[in-house]
Amino acid sequence: MHEMSYIARMVSLAVEVANDNNAKKVKSIEVSIGKTSGVMPYYMHKYYPDASRGTILEGAELICNEVPVTALCEECDRKYEPSRENNYLCPHCGGRKAHIIAGKDVVLTNVVIED
Ligand SMILES: [Zn+2]
Repeated sequence: MHEMSYIARMVSLAVEVANDNNAKKVKSIEVSIGKTSGVMPYYMHKYYPDASRGTILEGAELICNEVPVTALCEECDRKYEPSRENNYLCPHCGGRKAHIIAGKDVVLTNVVIED
């Protein structure tokens, strides 16, 4: 399960943020998970208690937000969500050339510090 390495990375990043802010306690951390990252929020939650044990994050809530895939059409420069219904083509111009601009990665988006 690669979620273990993702959650370990998120925890160490969040610990760094907490330390930079001289936090004594962290209330929650928020992670956005791209739909195509292959990462399941279920496993993130499952491994989180172990990954955070003994760190400043122990007991802090983990919030996972799934992020849909967003593509940017190279033909018309508009954003869309590729889907089976539109054959993964741009719904604005029917273009095939696009690159994925969101929904691929697992990103730490927020660290809420308790004061
Ligand atoms: Zn287009």
